[in-house]
Amino acid sequence: MAIEIESSQSLNVDPAELEKFASLAHRWWDKSSEFKPLHAINPLRLNFIDGLVDLQGKRVLDVGCGGGILSESMDEKGANVTGIDLGDKALKVAKLHQLESGSKVDYRLVSVEDLAKEQPSSFDVVTCMEMLEHVPDPEAIIRACAQLVKPGGSVFFSTINRNPKAYLFGVIGAEYVLNMLPKGTHEYQKFIKPSELSSWARYAGLDIAQLKGMGYNPLTDHYSLGDDVSVNYLIHTIKS
Ligand code: SAH
Repeated sequence: MAIEIESSQSLNVDPAELEKFASLAHRWWDKSSEFKPLHAINPLRLNFIDGLVDLQGKRVLDVGCGGGILSESMDEKGANVTGIDLGDKALKVAKLHQLESGSKVDYRLVSVEDLAKEQPSSFDVVTCMEMLEHVPDPEAIIRACAQLVKPGGSVFFSTINRNPKAYLFGVIGAEYVLNMLPKGTHEYQKFIKPSELSSWARYAGLDIAQLKGMGYNPLTDHYSLGDDVSVNYLIHTIKS
């Protein structure tokens, strides 16, 4: 797949992964679509981030922003948000949505590694949500996020744990039983244990401040944050 981006060096990206999102791109803002789970968890993660860093007036980078669900909500909280993704269709949808919402997010088709060279230590907050499990080399993404944030700034990651329960809930449950996500959305071997993510983060100069689980109750269709990190989880790190 041809990707026109702001630089042409070899990329830490899986074209098949980008294609999965490209084929659904027109539905990013349809809250009953395949993106329903992202809409449903957004208030939780937004409030988690805002409660820890107070987004008002902060310079924020949203890595793998997709159609802009989190980016726009951080903009609404008064942050000055840049959203980057390597999916051009998602970014087009994100930009179109701004015409309706009036959001001021600056969307760019650039890799996080290239942006890290261009603008090191320039963001107060970096978010990278539900993306690490879709890239060939997640550690390189974490390193680039660490380069982009200012010393003392925060980087947030969220992804899916790797264990039998995560396979059962994250793949079988979500894709095959509840049909919440299209089949093939997630590949088990790309899931990341909190211990792996934490050691990559520490290696990149990020201290682990907090680890939170994100749970889903299919009976009540309700998501919540808690201590159970066995399936979906969020991690807050701070650049030392
Ligand atoms: N972070 C958003 C979207 C998650 S979906 C949210 O949580 O709401 C995963 C996104 O990662 C998709 O938009 C996909 O295009 C993007 N993506 C996958 N590989 C990428 C890469 N190597 N660089 C940047 N974005 C990538």
